[in-house]
Amino acid sequence: MYAERLARTRAAMADAGVDVLLASVGPDLPYLIGYEAMPLPRLTMLVVPRDAPATLVIPRLEVARVVERGDLFAIRGWDETEDPVAIVADLCGPARTAAVGDQTWARHVVDLVDRMPSTRLRRADLITGPLRARKDAFEIDQLRAAGAAADRVAAQLQAGEVRMVGRTEAEVSEEISRRLLAEGHAHVNFAIVAAGANAASPHHHASDRVIQAGEVVLCDFGGVYATPDGTPGYCSDTTRMFWVGGTPPAEFVELYDVLHRAQAAAVAAAVVGTPCEDVDRAARSIIAEAGYGDAFIHRTGHGIGLFEHEDPYIVAGNREPLVAGNAFSIEPGIYLDGRFGARLEDIVVATADGPEPMNRSDHGLTVLDA
Ligand code: ZN
Ligand code: ZN
Ligand code: ZN
Repeated sequence: MYAERLARTRAAMADAGVDVLLASVGPDLPYLIGYEAMPLPRLTMLVVPRDAPATLVIPRLEVARVVERGDLFAIRGWDETEDPVAIVADLCGPARTAAVGDQTWARHVVDLVDRMPSTRLRRADLITGPLRARKDAFEIDQLRAAGAAADRVAAQLQAGEVRMVGRTEAEVSEEISRRLLAEGHAHVNFAIVAAGANAASPHHHASDRVIQAGEVVLCDFGGVYATPDGTPGYCSDTTRMFWVGGTPPAEFVELYDVLHRAQAAAVAAAVVGTPCEDVDRAARSIIAEAGYGDAFIHRTGHGIGLFEHEDPYIVAGNREPLVAGNAFSIEPGIYLDGRFGARLEDIVVATADGPEPMNRSDHGLTVLDA
């Protein structure tokens, strides 16, 4: 699997005229060799020349963490007294063009530019983004398992197993996080709990606000699902809506109905060959027709995989057609400032047989007593 990914990467490098690819912190490294760099200033970098063997440059003290994979790559552990950037520059040789991963520490990029003044740097995601966006069967299996685990937590919330009224958003968020771990996640990326007017802020963080009877609660949560072999896992991300204590007002019920129809329409539109922006439009047109166009203030979705946000983005202006294996969120929202808001989110994979949702928990507005 990793050999095939490296081969496809080298083919894409040839097409793009890139001589060497440098993968450090971020998703490229786990995608290419199943190893995730520690997010620390000591340099870890996989050097992938187009026509020569790859080498993982890594702090000596972290070599033991690496699972060797046949002759896929050599390991060059560096001692504390060595300059790892010089080692990388040596391995790059006379490369004219080097592609560098998005999340590489700026200090290393700056040092690389100093070391290799005649090498032109480019963004590695131009090479790896389209490859990583096309999930293979193993990756889709992992996304399915991650989605099912998140769905089990959503179902527990919908069954009223987590009391909300009288507790703070932060307390409910912590409980959701615990349940994600109990259902097989290796770690939690976020657990947004936004009550009342806070639900009108898409990236609200769970606060000390106490949830009251008679208000809306938005729960948007996800994490990294543990893989059986300990390699870096794939992400979950789902949003479900609750009304706690009493009957929701007719205005909110109507708003939610619009949102539900918009979300379902975008899922149905996520067919191979359809431009990403048309999937966005499928949701947006329904929300706009209902008079909430100005209240849908973000794109419809983001790609997902080893990382929570990656290609493809489901947004106006992205004319790229969906290809089989694309995995992304469909998460329209309607936000009425100072009052309330709602979002509904599933992960969907575009397949030859049509859109396959990774999330299947109930899509309705759940009304809870407490
Ligand atoms: Zn989300
Ligand atoms: Zn999302
Ligand atoms: Zn539905």
